[in-house]
Amino acid sequence: FTPGLEPQPTWCPGCGDFGVLKALKQAMPEVGRTPDETLLCTGIGCSGKLNSYFESYGFHTIHGRSLPVARAAKLANPGLEVVAAGGDGDGYGIGGNHFMHTARENHDMTYIVFNNEIFGLTKGQTSPTSPKGHKSKTQPHGSAKDPIRPLSLSLTSGASFIARTAAVNPNQAKDILIEAMEHDGFAHVDFLTQCPTWNKDARQYVPYIDINDSEDYDFDPTNRAEAQEMMRTTEDKLYEGEVLTGVYYRDEERPSYGQEKRQIGEMPETPLAERYFDEDYEWERTHDLFLDKHK
Ligand code: SF4
Repeated sequence: FTPGLEPQPTWCPGCGDFGVLKALKQAMPEVGRTPDETLLCTGIGCSGKLNSYFESYGFHTIHGRSLPVARAAKLANPGLEVVAAGGDGDGYGIGGNHFMHTARENHDMTYIVFNNEIFGLTKGQTSPTSPKGHKSKTQPHGSAKDPIRPLSLSLTSGASFIARTAAVNPNQAKDILIEAMEHDGFAHVDFLTQCPTWNKDARQYVPYIDINDSEDYDFDPTNRAEAQEMMRTTEDKLYEGEVLTGVYYRDEERPSYGQEKRQIGEMPETPLAERYFDEDYEWERTHDLFLDKHK
């Protein structure tokens, strides 16, 4: 990315991805982070282009693999604000294993999943969030399977901050991204993004409800059981035509992966990024240790 030479997005007119970009651009300065303190890792898909349009360090990884790269970067340089992003096919399908284990280990980062219920870049194939019965070129008679429940999966896996927002609501999206980035631990944001080119039926076009503001929904996001119930309701209602959004779960007590590793002495206090540039640092090489042990 060259400052002053900002590339123009090539997303289709009306694409929800514009909403993610706008919310992220508005949120980052409010978190107090500059482009040179920020890393944005993306997967493959229309969403993967995000870091081409966002002023920060960027790493366009391979399909479903934004999270392992983001994890490595955060562990090597904990001072970085690390954001990973990808689509629902990229994150819940191809990279689903990374999603579960990054949540389980509570790596300190924000993970934005552009959820448009299809694979967009490759022309609208059925994805893990496509509703049962959804017709596409890969499932012309309609998807036979129920979709994944991303919020519930995230909670079960161990994420310590879980939210859903929508591109049609940029103010809520910005506020949720700020909260996610300020959270210490794995913050998962399921971001409903419409794809007007390949999925005109998506629920993202209907009005949404903010569960944190609505009088109809009274629950405590710091209570795991109540959060779980709220997620179940949200995931059921999505396919019945009611879009619920908001912050579902927040656990501020649980240490992140890096914090825990440092506490038990498995990771040096000085991060790798600093050690690497310290000419006086005495490296303990695994190979040398192995040779010493087997002399
Ligand atoms: Fe957006 Fe869909 Fe176009 Fe991709 S194909 S840029 S997701 S509208």
